[in-house]
Amino acid sequence: MTTDLAAFAAERGVKYFMISYTDLFGGQRAKLVPAQAIAEMQEDGAGFAGFATWLDLTPAHPDVFAIPDASSVIQLPWKKDVAWVAADCVMEDAPIAQAPRVVLKRLIKEAAEAGLRVKTGVEPEFFLITPDGQAISDAADTAEKPCYDQQAVMRRYDVIAEICDAMLELGWKPYQNDHEDANGQFEMNWEYDDALATADKHSFFKFLVKSIAEKHGLRATFMPKPFKGLTGNGCHAHISVWSTDGKTNAFADKSKDFGLSDQGRTFLGGIMKHASALAAITNPTVNSYKRINAPRTVSGATWAPNSVTWTGNNRTHMVRVPGPGRFELRLPDGAVNPYLLQAVIIAAGLSGIRSKADPGPHSDINMYEDGHTITDAPKLPLNLLDALRAYEADPEFMETMGSEFSAAFLKMKHREWNNYCAQFTAWEHDTTLDI
Ligand code: ADP
Ligand code: MG
Ligand code: MG
Ligand code: MG
Ligand code: MG
Repeated sequence: MTTDLAAFAAERGVKYFMISYTDLFGGQRAKLVPAQAIAEMQEDGAGFAGFATWLDLTPAHPDVFAIPDASSVIQLPWKKDVAWVAADCVMEDAPIAQAPRVVLKRLIKEAAEAGLRVKTGVEPEFFLITPDGQAISDAADTAEKPCYDQQAVMRRYDVIAEICDAMLELGWKPYQNDHEDANGQFEMNWEYDDALATADKHSFFKFLVKSIAEKHGLRATFMPKPFKGLTGNGCHAHISVWSTDGKTNAFADKSKDFGLSDQGRTFLGGIMKHASALAAITNPTVNSYKRINAPRTVSGATWAPNSVTWTGNNRTHMVRVPGPGRFELRLPDGAVNPYLLQAVIIAAGLSGIRSKADPGPHSDINMYEDGHTITDAPKLPLNLLDALRAYEADPEFMETMGSEFSAAFLKMKHREWNNYCAQFTAWEHDTTLDI
């Protein structure tokens, strides 16, 4: 594990470090620092004006310093002169409570104090589109059911293989790549890891995919629902909890339903209990709500949930237990902040374990066909405002996520909702003009 960035630069011939942090809206902000200056920056951090990014700071606040976490450093496989390193935000020597990586690290520490080591894998789907953002980049990619389309994935071989080669080189153990359920959509999978490592990899993956797409004259988007009528970009998370030494999967118990241990059930109970609140974070944009609760897509299914239900190996529910020792949360979308995704999972799981939450009975129906027959399962929020209100209506969860974080997040997101409401749409003109 790298601890000295100057030595890393000397060994690898790195000329610049990209000191990068993620703001509340998931944007990655960075300074390019020459290797000659990195030793000092590793101590003191790179300075930023916090107000210029989404951290709920004012122009009068003192500087934000992004202190690189050397253990996360990655030499860019497509530009070896540069290395990316994830950073933690501090101000006047104290961590900034609402900064996403700080929030996650605090929750990981709380989990560790309770003897839990959370390991997760994520599946961030994306589209390859034209540089102007208007259309799918492959004009021949028009099948009604394009999932696993062999010919279409090969037409994008140069891009997909370059991304996968990068992950192989970095030792992430990627194991499959496919064309997904929408025209122009792809998914690439690598092995699960500790929650912080997964969050850093998820962030870097977005940077990697966008950069390689641009190199090939394309554009990559993780937008939750970029094209009306087509399946959206999910970002499912697979979750398990291990002993602190990482050797024993505490969620695995073959004698229980679906192989999920009692502890796994109470963790899941927390996810179920806080689902409507945590949607504000797993589905953080106006557009997110066009993916969940969506009408049937061209391919026949949205693959996204609409209610707070769980099941065994059945992809029509919010939570699926695909096999012993883990479960899959299918709610998050491509707009999710990689650090806050892991943070809400841990916060909800900890709350579930502390309160011995019962996830309730599992439901094994085809939710897309027969969902109307379950009348007691809460519906997921219908829009961002509903989700923000559900978050506000769950004070225990707001507290577990951190009161400074929750206040900052809600303030920024209400502002975004209000900006959205100030838009005049063609739809309202069309439907209201002649009233
Ligand atoms: P699917 O599309 O069937 O949901 P994928 O293979 O696309 O599944 O993604 C599965 C993800 O779950 C991968 O990141 C994988 O490493 C991860 N995973 C597998 N086992 C575990 C586990 N025990 N704990 C957490 N994540 C896991
Ligand atoms: Mg300046
Ligand atoms: Mg998958
Ligand atoms: Mg998928
Ligand atoms: Mg999945």
